[in-house]
Amino acid sequence: MRKIALEEHIIFPEFIDYLAETKQNILSSLFDKVVGALSDFGDRRLEMMDQNGVDYVVLSISGPGVQIEPDTATAIRLSHLANDRLAAEIQKRPTRYGGFAHLALQDPKGAADELERCMRELKFVGALINGQTLGVYLDDPRYDVFWERVSALKASIYLHPGNPQTIAPAYANHPELWGPTWSWAAETCTHALRLIFRGTFDRYPDARLILGHMGETLPIQGWRLDSRYPISNHRHAIQKKPSDYLRSNVFVTTSGVCSDAALRCALEELGPHNVMFSIDYPFEDTQTACDWIDGADISEAERAAVSCGNAIALLGLPL
Ligand code: MN
Repeated sequence: MRKIALEEHIIFPEFIDYLAETKQNILSSLFDKVVGALSDFGDRRLEMMDQNGVDYVVLSISGPGVQIEPDTATAIRLSHLANDRLAAEIQKRPTRYGGFAHLALQDPKGAADELERCMRELKFVGALINGQTLGVYLDDPRYDVFWERVSALKASIYLHPGNPQTIAPAYANHPELWGPTWSWAAETCTHALRLIFRGTFDRYPDARLILGHMGETLPIQGWRLDSRYPISNHRHAIQKKPSDYLRSNVFVTTSGVCSDAALRCALEELGPHNVMFSIDYPFEDTQTACDWIDGADISEAERAAVSCGNAIALLGLPL
């Protein structure tokens, strides 16, 4: 089965220092190993794709990138550099590579303008955002200008994990929980729920949110969210049930979760068009992910949709 993957990472030299922030989350030995793979746009990456039946990947800077840059002007300059350089790589292999924009969210209006430039001029398919930016989450009113543009462009925003600014006491003395094992799922899932409960998708109904890692646990939460929201001290009214937004505006990828049960849950709770294959190269193993989806216990129609059809439809891929 031909496959398209959407959470596939790259790095440019100017961004390695930002990536080093994730040394708090993963073993240093893994970090050193991935930098070489992230920096390669040619033989190694394409060989891995060809060996495993991956036709096309959407590339994105490995986080957190400029989102942790305290100087706004530097963040803006480097985000434009990243996007121009990625566009040049895509141009060399337009049938294999697409791109998600890297944005300096320190400047919401500038980020909206850069997203529009990336989609209109560089033919990117959306943007990938690494969690909060200097303590500000995407539901903050100052991002209304950004979501307005996202909705107008019918852009997809991939909300990728990033660390919050402080470590909650619950993680004390448990570094294994801090990062991909658990805290990234909790942080990213919470960030997505902030958007839902702030009414973002009522105001900007054409905005699409993509979550990796089979939805960061969100697919199992729908019933409870609907049940408990009415008795909560909510501050903003929303027009639909919380779980309705999971079906209308939230899409998930299978990155880093090769589980039939989790896949079936996501398909049933979110819908047959809301789940898309991904790998999370080079942090996850390409062959493991590809062998799994090729043999997963779902129908052939579901496999075709998850492996490539849903991504083509959602992102308007030129394939
Ligand atoms: Mn990733």
